[in-house]
Amino acid sequence: MKQTMTAKIIGSHLVSGKMVAGEEIGIRIDQTLTQDSTGTMAYLQLEAMNIPRVKTKLSVAYIDHNTLQTGYENADDHLFIQTVAAKHGIVFSKPGNGICHQVNVERFGRPGWTLLGSDSHTPTGGGIGMLAIGAGGLDVAVAMAGGAYYLKMPKVCRVELTGKLQPWVSGKDIILELLRRLSVKGGTGRVFEYTGEGAARLTVPERATITNMGAELGATTSLFASDEMTRAFLAAQGREADWTALAPDEGAEYDETVVINLDELQPLVAKPHSPDNVAPVAELAGSKVDQVAIGSCTNSSYLDLIKVAKILEGKQVHPDVSLVIAPGSRQVLGMLADSGALSVLLRAGARILECACGPCIGMGQSPKSGGVSLRTFNRNFEGRSGTPDAKVYLVSPEVAAVSALTGTITDPRTFGAAPVAVMPDKFISDDNLLVFPPADGQAVEVVRGPNIKPFPKAQPPAESLRAPVLLKVGDNITTDHIMPSHASLLPYRSNIPHLAKYCFSGVDSSFPERALQAQGGIIVGGNNYGQGSSREHAALAPLYLGIKAVLVQSFARIHRANLVNFGIVPLLFADSADYAGISLNDELVIENLRDQLSAATVLTVRNVTTGKDIPVKWEATERERQIILAGGLLNYTRQAGGV
Ligand code: SF4
Repeated sequence: MKQTMTAKIIGSHLVSGKMVAGEEIGIRIDQTLTQDSTGTMAYLQLEAMNIPRVKTKLSVAYIDHNTLQTGYENADDHLFIQTVAAKHGIVFSKPGNGICHQVNVERFGRPGWTLLGSDSHTPTGGGIGMLAIGAGGLDVAVAMAGGAYYLKMPKVCRVELTGKLQPWVSGKDIILELLRRLSVKGGTGRVFEYTGEGAARLTVPERATITNMGAELGATTSLFASDEMTRAFLAAQGREADWTALAPDEGAEYDETVVINLDELQPLVAKPHSPDNVAPVAELAGSKVDQVAIGSCTNSSYLDLIKVAKILEGKQVHPDVSLVIAPGSRQVLGMLADSGALSVLLRAGARILECACGPCIGMGQSPKSGGVSLRTFNRNFEGRSGTPDAKVYLVSPEVAAVSALTGTITDPRTFGAAPVAVMPDKFISDDNLLVFPPADGQAVEVVRGPNIKPFPKAQPPAESLRAPVLLKVGDNITTDHIMPSHASLLPYRSNIPHLAKYCFSGVDSSFPERALQAQGGIIVGGNNYGQGSSREHAALAPLYLGIKAVLVQSFARIHRANLVNFGIVPLLFADSADYAGISLNDELVIENLRDQLSAATVLTVRNVTTGKDIPVKWEATERERQIILAGGLLNYTRQAGGV
């Protein structure tokens, strides 16, 4: 049978299930990555599994999110991760080495491998032909311990790129166009495979920009072929030996096809407050800009920043604009310095930030009140910048740089000749901010500062459930809504009791206290509940607050998996209209809960307050049923006798 690239990689890593769209499959994981914000929990969970050394081919622990050290908390987390990594055979990427996805593509990613990362933008690795999937920290811990990763076999959607990108139009515009067409829900249960002459011409960093933002489509992952372009990139990184070819078979059958004609594509912008709220830049031309931020795992490669330097060369940033630039890695920063581009950026008036996530995660550089910020990032959810009423627009580095000069959103095609950036033959790669683990880590002492708190343990469900609706929310609730990630909270990612006080704080500030008192509540929501990041804190904080079930119209994939992993039952309205029939504080009852969870696909929820019965769907695989009945993945893994 003619195979897609997805089928080839999954087929060679399959440990259980059949490759039929929608069926549960288990795949072997070659490589894992964590970042510090989700990593502390992942490593606490790995320790709870009593595995002396990771069983993956390669595992890397990055520090890129919480790099500001305004108190002891982040430093405590970093040291815990560094020592636990050394003990268990994990490579440690020190703070300042760069953003996990950028560094992973540069130094570790391998075509044809599977990568599981505790970060939703792990699919960036699809730019070099890896099957790279974002998951919760506990799933990643299980993979490090040698367990399979379970997911529903995705549909495979072919994105055929015809024609050629025109001057001033870039990879960012390709993914924004797809978001415009398909929306933030359009990729659910799918892998996007990019093919065609347009795809073949894109460089690896451009491909990685596109696969990175496949996460915003809600996709399982995205993939480009591993071709001569990939080989040249790996060779320039001194890693040609890591290259293998990957391409779909001629005539491979896809579940769906989307065609984008690059000849017709124009510069695009995602307007506040959703990455799919996309319009042509030309339509917004002339709108005043207060801040321009260039960087993030989406657009901070050497090629991106060289283009920015070429645009800024000999010019001055507009007096009313603050331009901040965070290079994606120390490799990128070093090469900007060696090439002279760094002084070009400085002379033009840019503020250079550390090689880290920085403003993307609200770690500094929040815009002024009500400010307009033009960013090359991947998300513009309300409040994510740290300024609740800021308006964040997502654009390419080209649009960002030109607009920083003019002070208004500017269609770069009106600006002059487009910059040309050529892929270098050789990247600088001294790797001296990587710490490789000792051959035997047994003697390493894991250091736990006071910020490292035990994580809450999930419990098996009771025979029956009687619980109040403690919160009712609408559509598109993000993990930022559930567990805000602003700078004051980020240092507490290893401290769930502290974080839980802020759960849903921007939606209903009384929720944590009411939930703690009730110790057994239900959350009701609309469509696409839990979209956004992979952070399992959005399940751990509700778990700590005693939430037993979440009943919504639809879930985002990773968050639903995190709920199951922590023993919170994810339920769906059988009839969406029943959402209107439940109000805050209604008392809900599910009789014979355990029995129903073990076998039923439709459960009856009795709304005691209104006297109505509501059918809800419990669409779980057999494995998920067992996980919920065991009281979460960790208990299940232990009961199953390891991984
Ligand atoms: Fe870091 Fe932002 Fe990328 Fe997340 S999306 S990994 S916070 S740069």
